[in-house]
Amino acid sequence: MYRQALFEEPLIFELGKAGRVGILLNDENQVPIEQYEGAISKSMRREKLNLPEVSQVEVTRHFTKLSQMNWGVDLGPYPLGSCTMKYNPRLNEDLATREQVEQMHPRQSVESSQGSLELMFRLERALSSITGMDEFTLQPAAGAQGELTGCLIIRKYHRKRGDHRDEIIIPDSAHGTNPASAAMAGFKVVVVRTSEDGYIDLDMLKCAVSNKTAGLMMTNPNTLGIFENKACEIAEVVHRAGGLMYYDGANLQGIVGRARPGDLGFDIAHINLHKTFSTPHGGGGPGAGPVGVKEGLSGFLPVPMVEQKEGKYEFNWDRPDSIGKIREDYGSFPILVRAYAYLLSMGVEGLKLSSGIAVLNTNYFARKVSGIRGFSVPFGNAIRKHEVVISAADIMRETGVSAYDISKALLDKGLHAPTIYFPLIVKEALMFEFTDAELKENIDLYVEALEDISQRAYTDPSGVKAQPKNTSVGRLDEVRASHPRTMRLSYRMHSH
Ligand SMILES: *Cc1c(COP(=O)(O)O)cnc(C)c1O
Repeated sequence: MYRQALFEEPLIFELGKAGRVGILLNDENQVPIEQYEGAISKSMRREKLNLPEVSQVEVTRHFTKLSQMNWGVDLGPYPLGSCTMKYNPRLNEDLATREQVEQMHPRQSVESSQGSLELMFRLERALSSITGMDEFTLQPAAGAQGELTGCLIIRKYHRKRGDHRDEIIIPDSAHGTNPASAAMAGFKVVVVRTSEDGYIDLDMLKCAVSNKTAGLMMTNPNTLGIFENKACEIAEVVHRAGGLMYYDGANLQGIVGRARPGDLGFDIAHINLHKTFSTPHGGGGPGAGPVGVKEGLSGFLPVPMVEQKEGKYEFNWDRPDSIGKIREDYGSFPILVRAYAYLLSMGVEGLKLSSGIAVLNTNYFARKVSGIRGFSVPFGNAIRKHEVVISAADIMRETGVSAYDISKALLDKGLHAPTIYFPLIVKEALMFEFTDAELKENIDLYVEALEDISQRAYTDPSGVKAQPKNTSVGRLDEVRASHPRTMRLSYRMHSH
């Protein structure tokens, strides 16, 4: 029986009283609060800072209560498709939070940062060999910023040749950040369809390429979890037209240690370190989206690059073709540390095993679920890689119970919902990714839960639509819930 903790906990801004503070050690080096206040110029400040004034015990209890009403990968499975929410080994956490990492400052001298530079240098080399790329920048803050970096490189590459190509081709199964990044870099987006068997429609692609094609952005395995086995042929079509191939590496978990985008004809690739290489992420961050390129494109990478000269590490800013700086300092350093620790602890064989287990988990689940009434696995029978997209279109049509209702019903069983309504090409989509971290028993729990929900959908659909009942809040007004100022109101109206 599952019941989530329930507290009528107000916002921290509604707690406390003027003058309440926590007790701190009397540290001479402590920056007085007035100095922080002074750091924001008076003219910039439109209203008085509304900082909560709370005692230490209020703060501790407040956040402990919120943590009890929350969910995370340390509590149970977190099968959000496309997000690769895998368990983050404590080893990485231990190393990333050591004093030598935490106390580093990005503006300190190169001489005193040799260890950090060496770590970045070695990570860059490791990512290059894992992906088959020649050189990586570690700067981008996440996958989406990696995409923007890649698109800016594509633009600069063509401009430098005096070529003003302005179209980027993107499959209709792509993550929304792909067209957004292309548009931000000034490109028009041309969409190609996914064929019935789950692959990019090659004939349509051949029609879509032209002398306006700057490049193609592709996720492989794609967001249906299917490995695009014609990737090399697709690359040939795009290259022949004069375009570049961009690899969205968000799904690298499906092939890591087994296939390399660099060998599949891709020229530029990002990796979401927070996904494949195990950094805790959620609610928008933190992340890191290093971008790798093939040799001919190295010159366009953002500055500075970490280089090794005569046994010393240094920053090289002298790259005249660089697209410039993408992010302040050198990126999300603690995440780079976690990724490096993860890679060292896994080793080449470990990475290969991790994609193997992820794929096994996916296909075990897919096979079980496709036997449940009302659920199907659309887009053909190809083996799925790290994730599978289930359609609840039949249940929806026959009972009125939607993918949204099903995901809410899962919460009542103490199971985190999957990603829903993505990719857009699947009706009533439920996208599951168990990663390499999940146990068979837990995948079975999901199978049993979906069996039960399916059965109830056909006998008592309104019962399913009234769920969840066991969570600390019921169905929220999703528009209000996304805005902090109205969240409380939504919470009060919908909690039970
Ligand atoms: C997560 C994801 C992205 C965006 O990556 P962020 O790190 O969240 O910015 C892009 N494409 C796909 C397929 C993804 O799953």
